Amino acid sequence: MKSRLSNTLKERAQGLCELCTTNEAASAYAVSPKNSDVIENEVALCDQCISILEGADAGSHWQCLAGSIWNTEPSVQALSYRILYGFKDQEWANEIITSVELDETVVTWAESAYQVSAKHLDSNGTELENGDSIVLTQQLNVKGASFMAPKGTIVRKIRLVPDNAEQIEGKINGDTIVILTKFVKKSI
Ligand SMILES: [Zn+2]
Repeated sequence: MKSRLSNTLKERAQGLCELCTTNEAASAYAVSPKNSDVIENEVALCDQCISILEGADAGSHWQCLAGSIWNTEPSVQALSYRILYGFKDQEWANEIITSVELDETVVTWAESAYQVSAKHLDSNGTELENGDSIVLTQQLNVKGASFMAPKGTIVRKIRLVPDNAEQIEGKINGDTIVILTKFVKKSI
């Protein structure tokens, strides 16, 4: 998140963007999920770096991360690593990532932006919990069973499959079966 550049951050950055170190620092950028309450969570950025983070074409601008990843500030390391991680399938980025050994807390911080929600969500995006009742939003062909569960079937006391946020288990006609969360709606 972009915010006003404080004097203390500007001083730390010596007035320059902490990623490209060529343009003048213009804003502070808090590296999520942390807030801009302390400068340790922030990176001083120029307008160009901000605009790329907001979706503008990077061109070859992120080559600068080969330098910024060596910054001593964990926030700068985390942001550099996070951007590079998005390009990790490309050789230049992968080379930079593998050339440094960052603190594990920095890597976790950087990668947090890529973690998908481990929550079980129904077809409306409502969170499901153990013991909930659900309604099937479409007909379910049950593998290995001799029946079909029609759309609208209510399944009570579901169990969440722990290591797969796309699956729940429930009993239909006395059989416990795996159901995909995208085909259910939480029943109130
Ligand atoms: Zn910059």
